[in-house]
This record gives sequence, C-alpha cells and structure tokens, in this order.
Amino acid sequence: MLKLLFGPALALMNNLSYPSKLTLISALFAVPLSLNLFDTMRYQQQEMHAIEEKHLGIQLINEFMKVIIELEQLRDMTVLSRSEQRNKGITDYAQQRDKTLKLLTHFSERSEIKSDQLLSLSSQNLRDKLQKTRISTGSEGDIVSNLYDNSNRLVDSAYTLQSILMNEFGLFSDSDLLSTQVVAFLNKETQPIFDTAGRARAFGSYFLTLSNLTSIGINLLEDTIQKLFSHQERLQQRLIVLVATYPELKQNSLILSENINSLGNLAMMVEDNVMLDPDFLTEWEDFYQQTSTEIRRLNTFRLSLGVFLEGHYLVRKEQLQHQNFSYTAGIGFLILLFGYLFFAFVMVFRSSIRNLSIAAKHVAEGQLDETIRITSNDEIGRLAMLFDSMRNQLKAREQELIEITITDGLTKIRNRKYFNETLTKALSLSDRTDQPTSLLLIDIDFFKKINDNYGHQAGDQCLIEVAQTLKNSLSRPNDEVARYGGEEFAVLLPATDLDGAKSLAQTLCTNIQNLSIVYDQQTIPVTISIGIATSSLISSCTDDLLVTKADNALYQAKEAGRNRWISSHD
Ligand code: GH3
Ligand code: MG
Ligand code: MG
Repeated sequence: MLKLLFGPALALMNNLSYPSKLTLISALFAVPLSLNLFDTMRYQQQEMHAIEEKHLGIQLINEFMKVIIELEQLRDMTVLSRSEQRNKGITDYAQQRDKTLKLLTHFSERSEIKSDQLLSLSSQNLRDKLQKTRISTGSEGDIVSNLYDNSNRLVDSAYTLQSILMNEFGLFSDSDLLSTQVVAFLNKETQPIFDTAGRARAFGSYFLTLSNLTSIGINLLEDTIQKLFSHQERLQQRLIVLVATYPELKQNSLILSENINSLGNLAMMVEDNVMLDPDFLTEWEDFYQQTSTEIRRLNTFRLSLGVFLEGHYLVRKEQLQHQNFSYTAGIGFLILLFGYLFFAFVMVFRSSIRNLSIAAKHVAEGQLDETIRITSNDEIGRLAMLFDSMRNQLKAREQELIEITITDGLTKIRNRKYFNETLTKALSLSDRTDQPTSLLLIDIDFFKKINDNYGHQAGDQCLIEVAQTLKNSLSRPNDEVARYGGEEFAVLLPATDLDGAKSLAQTLCTNIQNLSIVYDQQTIPVTISIGIATSSLISSCTDDLLVTKADNALYQAKEAGRNRWISSHD
C-alpha cells in the first residue's frame, strides 16, 4: 500500500541527483514563499505609497486651511461693509479679497493641485467666484443674515474643495483611527464652529455700527450665543475623549490650550457689548478686533490639529519604512543564508561523491594502496570509512594470495616460481650496478635412502628442517632461499662475490651436518652438497647459464663424495 502510494515519488527521486532532489524540494517551498513575499512587498509598497499620499494631502490641507481662514474673514467683512462705515469697509474688503486671492492662486499653482483634474477645476472655480465677489450683493432691505448666508457660499465652496482634497489624497480611508477622527473633525465639524464664530464677529460688529438692535437682531444674536456655548461644550467633551484615547495628543500643547474657550469668550463679548448694553458704548472696531483675536486663537487650534496630523503621518511613514526595512533585511538574510548553506551542501556533496567514485575506480582497477580521504562527518563519511576498511581487507586478502603463490606448501619458504622471478631481477640489477650475483644450488645427499629408511613423512620432516636451517643461516636481508625441486634448494646471493658464496656454502654444509633431525625417536643424519656459480665470472651471464653452471658444480660435488661445496669457477 505504502509502495503504491509513494511509487511515483520514489521513481522520481531515484532518477534525480542529490543536488537536484534538494533543489526540487526547496523549490516546492520557495515558490509559494516567494509569491507570498512578492505579495507582501507589493502590499508594503502600496501602503507606503498611501501614507505618502496622505502625508502630502494633509500638507495641502494645512496650506488650504489658511485660505479658508481668510475667506471666512472676507465673509464677515461683507456684512460689516453694509453698515454706515461703508467706505472704510469697502477698502478693507478689497484688501482682504486681494490677499485671499493671492493665497488661493498660490495654492492652485501647486503641482499636486494642477495635476489633479478635479482639484484644479474646483480651485479654479473657487478662484473665479472669489474674483467675482462684490460687497454690494442684495438690496438694502435684505436682513443681515441673508447677506451673511450669501457670502458664506464662497466659504462653502472652499470647504467642499477641502473635502475633495481629503478624498483625493485618501485621507478618509485610513485604518488608523486617530487620523480618521482628526480628518473627520477637520472636514465636518470645523465649518459650523467657524460659521458661528463668524456670525458673532460679523453680527456683533454690524449692530454696533447701527447702534440699534431690532427683534430680528436679538434673535440672531441669541441664537449665535447659544450655538457658541454648545459648540464649546461639544468640542471640550470631544477633546477629553480624544486625548484619553490617544495620549500622543497631549504632546501638542496648542491643541490642549485654552484656545477653544474662545468660543465662550465670543459669546460673552456679544452678550456684554451688544445685547446687554442699550447704549452701544463699545466701538464696533474694537469689538471687531477683539472678536478677531478670539477667532485667531480658534484658528490656531485647528491649524495645530492639522500640523499634528502631518507629524503623525510622518511618524507612521517612518515606522512603516523601518518595518519594511526589517522585513526585507530579514528575508534577504534568510535567502542569503539559504544560498550559502545550499552552496556548501552541493560542494561537500559533490566532492565527497567524487572522491568516493575515484576511490571505487582505483579499487576496481586493483590499486588498493590509496587511502580514501573524506572529511565530512556524515553518512557519506561513514560510507567512505566502510569502503576504506573493505579496501584494506581486499588488500590483505590479495597479499595473502600473492604469498601463497610464491610460498612452498611444505617447507613454507619461497618456491621455484618466486626463485625464477627473483633471479631475473637480481641479474638485471647486477648488470646495472656491476656487482656479482652468486647462486648456490643445494641437494640433500642420499635423500632417497632417508625416505626408504625412515619413511616419507620423515623425509618431509627433513625437508622442513633443512629449509628452516638454510633460511636461518642467511644474514643479509636480500639473500633468498627457495625450494628448487624435490630435495633441492637454491640460495640467491645478490651483491656477493665467489669468496662470499664459498664462505656461506661452507657455513650451510656445516649447519646442516650439525642439524640433528629427530623423527620417531630416531636421529636422522643429513648432509648437503652445493654447487656454486657467480654471475661476474660468467661471460654474458643469463639466468639459465648461471643455473646450469651451479648445477654442474653440484654434480661435481656429488661425484666428489657429497657433503661439500664445489665452485664452477675453480
Ligand atoms: P643423491 O645423493 O645422489 O642426491 O641421492 P638421492 O637419493 O638424494 O637422489 P635421488 O634424486 O635419487 O632421490 C631424490 C629423492 O627425493 C627421490 C624422491 O622420492 C625424494 N623426494 C623428492 N621430493 C620429495 C618430497 O617432497 N618428500 C619426500 N619425502 N621425498 C621426496
Ligand atoms: Mg636430487
Ligand atoms: Mg639428493
């Protein structure tokens, strides 16, 4: 069942190299992760772009708020210029209108406004309206509030433009609640507050210039006073909640200052100077100046909110930048680490496998001497160790086999095959080094009789002991003794002249004669005869020639009575 389930995967894995297997598995993880990463980065970029837009948006709003403030002042002057002080009013009005127009034009010239079709159209529209504004709208019979309302249309348009501006720069759609609340306040709530404040200034000043208050006037002023108080109360409550929720607002002293008390101050000014003074003693200009001071304080409050919001967006932008950097740096580091480790893995793996393959090839070719060097302490390292121990065993086994092929089974000394090979090598070395090689051919005397008298096993025993004695009698490391045939031995003496060979031959004869071989409680006497030949004394010496000369000498030794040596060169 498992085999059936994993069949295709096993087939695939069996046909892939290790780096490919790892690459395949990594890719399966890397692809969805990369997609996700790409998505996240794109989202981060969008978010960053949105914040940048908003930051720019609030900068524009802050600038435009100054235009609104001027427009509101212009509106209030409209009412005033209908009064008895008309001439002075007209001059002030014209100045104010020019000032506002300049400010508005400067704002409209901004590239951000020009590049946005809706904004440039709206600001153009507002400019046109402002340019056309004249104070003498309406008839003398119009009540003052109508004048005010007419003039307020321009302010309405400005607030509409402010709304469009907020919308175009995404200020309404924000997940940050503090920003949303401040934006909502600036968008919806400031207009009625400043409308009422404007009425207090305009109507109060107007009635002071008239020094007369009709019942319509009383109603207008009472209504204004009430609204001022209720605005103040609402604003205070609103601020308490806002500051409790967002302590960062506390850092801005202008927002928290007594500026909003100006609403109450305005109400009291209207009450004291206009409503409750039947003689209208206050100069309208003084009243206008004092109320303007209060309105300026209120304006400071709303401008501070705008500046606060601008800073708030900047902080958010920096936070996002930091967050994006950490994210990108983190991911980048992980990718580098992965690449680094992956590269090291491939290198280690390839080098281990390559070394192992080379070693296997050497073993296959019969080169068993080289140790396998794999430094990695992993499965391949352990496999290499096993492989190396296999190589050592093969080498030992091969050595054993070689040993067997060159060893005589009975006497355990070297055999005829080994002797032949060694003789050839010794003679060629002798040629090169110009040194003599001597050969002793040894034959046990009357060995047939030993077999006959003591039995074949006794004969074998004799062969073993004679071989060992011959071997032990050699002192130089390069001297070799081998079993040449049945009861014949050969001693090869490299770098040995005839005198050396004779001396050793005598030693061998003596040592064998002195050997007491005991078999089946009987001591078997053994002697040997030796024929000596030395390569340097034979012209154009070959293996065969040397052996023949030694063999002839051996024959002579037998003829001469045995238990002796004879040199073929004497
Ligand atoms: P000589 O002094 O002339 O050499 O006399 P010999 O008897 O030694 O010479 P011969 O060549 O006639 O006899 C050699 C004998 O050695 C014949 C053979 O049976 C015996 N022989 C050869 N190989 C072995 C062996 O492996 N074991 C035993 N026990 N005898 C062997
Ligand atoms: Mg013989
Ligand atoms: Mg013999």
